[in-house]
Amino acid sequence: MGSTMVRPGLRSHAKKRVARKLPGGGTKVFYIRRKHYKARCAICGRLLGGIPVDPDIIRRGAKTLKRPERPYGGVICPDCLARAYRIAIRSG
Ligand SMILES: [Zn+2]
Repeated sequence: MGSTMVRPGLRSHAKKRVARKLPGGGTKVFYIRRKHYKARCAICGRLLGGIPVDPDIIRRGAKTLKRPERPYGGVICPDCLARAYRIAIRSG
């Protein structure tokens, strides 16, 4: 998209490039922060709750803010965990 050299921090693809129209009629490339993808269950693929989408919290927030404080919290959903517990208890 643009051939002019931008500042070093914008040369990576950490930020998304978006061409936006300007009020005067021209277009300009804007560097937009990418949204963090939503966490999904590793078994069934369902969206997991209790996990922030805000990259600021993911980067700088406390560990307790980033995933539920439960075994496999932030990895598998509560339904899959309950099913896995049942299977483990019955086979053990
Ligand atoms: Zn699941």
